Amino acid sequence: MTEESAALYVVPTPLGNLADLTRRAEEILRTVPWIAAEDTRHSGPLLKQLGAPARTIPAHQHNEHEAAARIVEKLRSGEAVALISDAGTPGISDPGARIVAAVRAAGCKVVPLPGPCAATTALSASGLLDEHFLFYGFLPSKGGQRRQALEALREQSCALVFYEAPHRVLETVEDMATVFGERTLVIARELTKLFESIHSLPLAEALDWLKEDANRQRGEFVLMLSGAPAETESGEGERVLKLLLAEGLPVKQAAKLASTITGAAKNALYERALLLRRQ
Ligand code: SAM
Repeated sequence: MTEESAALYVVPTPLGNLADLTRRAEEILRTVPWIAAEDTRHSGPLLKQLGAPARTIPAHQHNEHEAAARIVEKLRSGEAVALISDAGTPGISDPGARIVAAVRAAGCKVVPLPGPCAATTALSASGLLDEHFLFYGFLPSKGGQRRQALEALREQSCALVFYEAPHRVLETVEDMATVFGERTLVIARELTKLFESIHSLPLAEALDWLKEDANRQRGEFVLMLSGAPAETESGEGERVLKLLLAEGLPVKQAAKLASTITGAAKNALYERALLLRRQ
């Protein structure tokens, strides 16, 4: 192995497309003696395909503590361990954080590998213009708690990134529309897979759009919301509006586009655009 040996390697695995496994990840998984896996049965086919000879250590949500102790023991005896989850990056809405913390606390080395992650993959294609984003992951599954969690995010001016399961996507989007009002929602589904789709639309229209076709509710979701529109002149809606007007777009079209992109109110942007054009 060309890498330093007795370390915990945090290895992202593909979200769907096996070609997304990096060469470095492949090399690590092929050469380490131990692989700590969220679900050893789930990861079996990938490891088999790679011809990875490593023995596996189960490392899931319910045994992270014991798994961490076993991993530290291996590292202390000079053996390398790779940590993988079912898909994407371990520790990102997945088990792993406790293991990493224990390994670091034991004074052993942790080596992270860059690679697939649904949140960053989705964001890169979202077209949202917010300069910052907040990764939230999964919202609470119970309606009341979910709405409360959303309320707490209402004033955030950065884009908000959520993970969601297919059986909850309708209720979550409905709650988002109730809490946030006018925003842009980007729905990324089945990333890197055969039925990948990325759709951007006003949040108020999202529930109907999802209901129009049952296929739109299937698969794995990343939901991304534009941040709270600033109410000042320097607000995101106005910033985009000015850019579009400067490009020579007609007032109506510029207001509509600026509203779709930023989630700011279309009528207010239209009024503002008329004024700006007159000036
Ligand atoms: N650790 C993973 C990562 O780095 O993205 C996330 C694991 S989390 C248990 C699983 C959730 O991630 C899914 O419910 C979905 O919200 C999102 N996700 C995973 N794969 C996805 C994909 N191919 N397309 C869209 N979302 C996906």
